[in-house]
Amino acid sequence: MTDPDARAGRAAGAVLGAAVGDALGAPYEFGPAGAFTAGPGEPVAGGGWERGEATDDTQMAVLVAESLLERGELDLPDIFDRFRRWAAADPKDIGIQTEDVLTNGMPWDLAAAVHFNTTLRAAGNGALMRAATSAVAFAGAGRRATMDAARRIAALTHGDRAAWEGTAIFHELVRLALDGADPLAAIPATLAEIHPDHRERYATVLAPDWHPDRATEANGAVWPCLGSAVWALRTTGDYRSAVHAAIDLGGDTDTVAAVTGGLAGARYGLAAIPESWLEPLHVPLPGFGGRVLRVAELLAMAEELAAGIRES
Ligand SMILES: [Mg+2]
Repeated sequence: MTDPDARAGRAAGAVLGAAVGDALGAPYEFGPAGAFTAGPGEPVAGGGWERGEATDDTQMAVLVAESLLERGELDLPDIFDRFRRWAAADPKDIGIQTEDVLTNGMPWDLAAAVHFNTTLRAAGNGALMRAATSAVAFAGAGRRATMDAARRIAALTHGDRAAWEGTAIFHELVRLALDGADPLAAIPATLAEIHPDHRERYATVLAPDWHPDRATEANGAVWPCLGSAVWALRTTGDYRSAVHAAIDLGGDTDTVAAVTGGLAGARYGLAAIPESWLEPLHVPLPGFGGRVLRVAELLAMAEELAAGIRES
């Protein structure tokens, strides 16, 4: 049996760890590799972001969490409505593809598919980046249910199945970590659960010998983003070093660090996140009454999510 206190610490670690990674990486977005090492190694303001300010990654993760907790189940139209309300309030940052889908006026179950069929470009990391809260919420439902929930939430904004499968892998790795298992050891078994058309590409970026230098796309795409996060987890031994390695890759630093931080937080638990990284964390929610969530609210949210949500 899993120690319940340890499990709660890992659930809080996943939610807070993703948010901290996002905020810590935001000032370095699209900057060069090595920028975090060159800086103070602590939260800074920059790139239009306040010190500790979380970006769209965490804002959308919170919207998913609030829908799950208020509805008590996976209510996809409700999540989509919240995304649309947020997008209409002019958030500081929003992914190009996500914005297109949330502002094209189509209903929730068609907007992403119509966008994909028109552009054939929908394999960004924008669904993966927001998955820490749903991963915690559905972990208790088991492998199949959490991977299915990941796909359905991803599909709200991303029509390309590659984005669904990457998010499903993330959900499953978080589920395993919350159980106290080694998520890296479970990668081969997890790959067996994803759609066959997408298995080989994920097997490549999740292989033990893969390095972010071998990416064939920028890390704003779902495959190298997940691959880089798993690489950061694999090549370090604690939360701080994993997130440090992720930000030092450069590129889409807030999102790669959010995904890394979600995995590393789930693995090492809340206590592994540096206090000085948590202290300035805040999550504005444009479109939702000017609310700004801080660590206490996020901890309460993580605790509620860890109690579990019905799949549908
Ligand atoms: Mg962002």
